[in-house]
Amino acid sequence: MNGREEGATEPLMADPVRSLTRTRDGRREAVFAVATFAGYLVAAYWAKELSLEQPVLIWFPPAGLAMAALFLRPRLLPIVASAELVSTAVVMGLASQFGPLALVVNSGAISGSYAVGAWVMRREGLDPALRSAADILRLAFGALIVASGLAALTGVGVQVWVGLAEGGEFFRQVWFFWVGDVVGITCLTPLLLIALTAWLDGDRPAVTDIEHRTNLALLVPEYLSPAVAALLLMEVVDQPMQFTYLAFVPLILIAVRHGVPGAAVAVLALGSVMIAGAHILVPEAVERSDVQLQITLMSGTVLLSGAVVSARRDVLDTAERVRDIIEASPDLVVSVDSDGVIRYLNPVGRRLLGQAAIGITEEPTDARRFLPGDLELNLVAEAVRTAQRTGTWTGETSIQLPDGHMLPVSMVLVAHRHPGDDAVTYSAVCRDMSDRIRAEDELRRAVLYDDATGLANRVLLTAHLARTVEGSTPESQVVVLFVDLDHLDRVNQTFGFRIGDRVVVQMAERLTRLTRSHELVARYGGAQFVVVMPEVTDDYQAVVLASRILEAFADPIEAGDHSIQVAGSVGIAVADPAKGHHHVLRSAEIALHRAKEAGGGRFAIFDADLQYRSEQRLDMEEHLRGVLSRQAWWLEYQPILETGTDRITGAEALLRWTHPEHGPVPPFELIRLAEESGSIVQLGEEIIRRACEEAKTWHEHGHDLAVSINVSARQLREAGFADDISRIIHDVGIAPDKVVFELTETVLATNHHGEGASLQRLRDLGCLVAMDDFGTGYSSLSSLRELPIDVVKLDRSFVVDLAEAPDASSMVSAVVELTETLGLLLVAEGVDHPSQVQMLAELGCPRYQGFVFSEAIRPEALTALLDGRSSNPTRTHHPDENGATDDR
Ligand code: C2E
Ligand code: CA
Ligand code: CA
Repeated sequence: MNGREEGATEPLMADPVRSLTRTRDGRREAVFAVATFAGYLVAAYWAKELSLEQPVLIWFPPAGLAMAALFLRPRLLPIVASAELVSTAVVMGLASQFGPLALVVNSGAISGSYAVGAWVMRREGLDPALRSAADILRLAFGALIVASGLAALTGVGVQVWVGLAEGGEFFRQVWFFWVGDVVGITCLTPLLLIALTAWLDGDRPAVTDIEHRTNLALLVPEYLSPAVAALLLMEVVDQPMQFTYLAFVPLILIAVRHGVPGAAVAVLALGSVMIAGAHILVPEAVERSDVQLQITLMSGTVLLSGAVVSARRDVLDTAERVRDIIEASPDLVVSVDSDGVIRYLNPVGRRLLGQAAIGITEEPTDARRFLPGDLELNLVAEAVRTAQRTGTWTGETSIQLPDGHMLPVSMVLVAHRHPGDDAVTYSAVCRDMSDRIRAEDELRRAVLYDDATGLANRVLLTAHLARTVEGSTPESQVVVLFVDLDHLDRVNQTFGFRIGDRVVVQMAERLTRLTRSHELVARYGGAQFVVVMPEVTDDYQAVVLASRILEAFADPIEAGDHSIQVAGSVGIAVADPAKGHHHVLRSAEIALHRAKEAGGGRFAIFDADLQYRSEQRLDMEEHLRGVLSRQAWWLEYQPILETGTDRITGAEALLRWTHPEHGPVPPFELIRLAEESGSIVQLGEEIIRRACEEAKTWHEHGHDLAVSINVSARQLREAGFADDISRIIHDVGIAPDKVVFELTETVLATNHHGEGASLQRLRDLGCLVAMDDFGTGYSSLSSLRELPIDVVKLDRSFVVDLAEAPDASSMVSAVVELTETLGLLLVAEGVDHPSQVQMLAELGCPRYQGFVFSEAIRPEALTALLDGRSSNPTRTHHPDENGATDDR
């Protein structure tokens, strides 16, 4: 059965209870009560006039009126009861036959029966708009079965009691009584329910479902046509009752065209006319009850068809409305079948996902194609599961548009179940959230960032600092640099605030450029900035950064026509997680004030320990500058030997410098200091020149050995590196194939700054390239195949393991084999025991170097060694000869 049971259309259908519970208009209610009373009497009079002289009436319109009135307003029962009493006593003129008691009992019984029927209809949830067949059935059950049945039984009962009817005729009388009510109700109640509900609600009663498309003036003849047809047929035809059925045809047409309202009006008209016509024109019609049967059947059928039509039209209207809403929605609406294939997309969806997405031009599309990643796929899978269980799911996700853009959406997923089908389909409504997210971002930006410079503001700084300080450890410290521009007020006074602001913005840019991405730069206020360095392993890095900041601040600033020279001061403090983030900020600020008190343009360190170390380092750098300028360093050479013969085939140049107080400084340290101070390029060049010159001397003495020179990443990155070397080789006049440049595998593998091209140029010159410390980086054996190298230096760690770990020897032999195949020369480093030499010889490693033969020695010592004036220096002097050399 169509209608109310369909949950989907329910919310948009008229609510039956609504009209009954709406706030009531007092005057209208009074009019309704009076009209009920008066109408009842008029209807009774009408019935009396049209009925035969019988104790029971063949048509009782008061029943129809009473049912409508009592359904809409149950409290009118006393009015109906008194109207029934007056009608029996006065209109029907039966006062004397009944007597007062029976009159009261009669009216109470009959109106009570109607009230019970009305109550049943209300209980069943009858919609007075009668928009569905189910409502017609509810009406039929409540009014025709319950109300009319009870009224007939009790009414006839009373008549028998007062002697108006014979007990023997009881059921025949009940039948007549019941039919009279049935005809009265079917003809009148539907129309009254529709009209009165509208009137009580203050609406205009509907006369047709398609009202807005209908000329109301044409409706009257149309609705009256069945009645007219019936009358004509009764008048014209010989056997009237046979042909009055033909009036049924226009009646059905009206029901189909106009739904319940039309059906109800036409039924009332036909009912009235047929009763009157039959009374006047058809002999004995009433006794045969033909008219009653006809009216009841016709009315019932027609009302049912009207209800079906109305309900269907409502459903269609609803669907159309819903579709209009969806089509006009600014949200993306998509429906997919159980396989995820898109079956419907609204215009917004078609615009975003493309026409192709709904398979207009291509194959049907799987909706999951628009989910950008595993995260979204999993989320939606979870959403589908939830929707299957509970009907809907709401949440946020992203979809990927065909042009690759990500669209953040808030999504409502609805699962549709279909009766008699296990497959569940889904619809999703997706709302574009990018505007909201952008607004939130902007808000966050406004709250957390400084407008003028775009740097973090104090709020973000404090939050960030609190978090980082809490997670810091002695191995991974947090250092805070408090930076201030000296004398910003003077700039403002001289050049005005606008220029002053420009200076601040430029300083902010310089700071951002100097710091790395994981370091936070915040504007603290005015011209004060704070830099937070997290994960600092060597706190001297902070000193280095502070020096760079001071240098950068000292660069003149071009603002308009002015070139402004300013200076900055920096306060440095290392965070102690136990003391919290406020403490480190405060300490850095105190240090800053110290720097300013000392005259500005400098940095100061809060922590005594770092202060001390930094002084030492500065002292070292100071010295280094001297060392570099006086070239007070020197090179020592560690021989490289042919395995088996111990013939010296080469020597590695190693940097040496001794600090007057701290003693020998490891070359690593020296190189790092040179890198930090920027003098590495010059130092590197001088090392290469000297190594080449010293090697050239050996060559001139007839010793054909190659010289290996270490090159750091910074050197190789330098733009003119290859040119410098070419010039040196040319100046010195050394054979380029006697020069080997040693680079670590990480350096060899990078090519961010044109390192690859530099390497190629070195080889083009005829020099050789060695991969230093092979086996300590990340590259695999296969990298040997790919990189542009000639020599491989096997790291010391493999040699140390040789005697102990069996896989070390298989690893070494694999390298031996591969380097042989690739034509690379293999040198084992850090060989400090004769047994290792033995094993290397067995494994076929062609070259080695290490303390077992010699440490790095002065060039004169090497010359002596080559000339045979000295024996193997280590074999004679090295204390660790008996194998206890492992100094790891
Ligand atoms: P490296 O290139 O791996 O140099 C070999 C290091 O191992 C040298 O340390 C050498 O003294 C040491 N060594 C040699 N044989 C043995 C041995 O049998 N046992 C042990 N335990 N060690 C041995 P050094 O001279 O301290 O140099 C350290 C690093 O400093 C070098 O490692 C190299 O990367 C760098 N370096 C040295 N001189 C220069 C230079 O002139 N320029 C550049 N850029 N880096 C240099
Ligand atoms: Ca080396
Ligand atoms: Ca090495």
